[in-house]
Amino acid sequence: MSTIQTPITHSTAHYLCAIHKLHEDNGYVRMVDISKLLNFSRGSVSIAIKNLKKKNLVEEDKNGFLNLSKVSHEKVHEILANKTLLYYFLKNFLGVTKNTAELDSCLMEHVLSAESQKKLFLYMKKMQTAEKENGNKSCVKTNLDFLNTCSNFKQFKESQKGDTFI
Ligand SMILES: [Zn+2]
Ligand SMILES: [Zn+2]
Repeated sequence: MSTIQTPITHSTAHYLCAIHKLHEDNGYVRMVDISKLLNFSRGSVSIAIKNLKKKNLVEEDKNGFLNLSKVSHEKVHEILANKTLLYYFLKNFLGVTKNTAELDSCLMEHVLSAESQKKLFLYMKKMQTAEKENGNKSCVKTNLDFLNTCSNFKQFKESQKGDTFI
């Protein structure tokens, strides 16, 4: 997957993730589904989608069904990977509450650079490996299964699903 550096707004991030989730859940996406999922009016969803289509982030087929473009699909995987890493870093490494971890990772999900994102994954993976090797003597107690199952960052990014934490 290539890295997309174009900045997007937080609101756009949520629209793209909503389309990603709806597509995975139902196999198709309509404006009404987005408006129900995000709890926004039909009017505001319609304006936002029109804008996203202009930026080539959302595509509409001849039947009016919406989907992500290749670029925005990759962007969604970046966002979800960021959110997952940030959430668990804040909660399991720093020890903040679940609620704060959820709020803060949501706010940072779309702004982390590709470089920091990759380094965060590698750092967490390294700490997790050290933790397993040192057992009770380890200074971190994280127990993150996803760090065991994903051997590299590319695999971790590709494994992101829906719009929530793995
Ligand atoms: Zn968010
Ligand atoms: Zn996907």
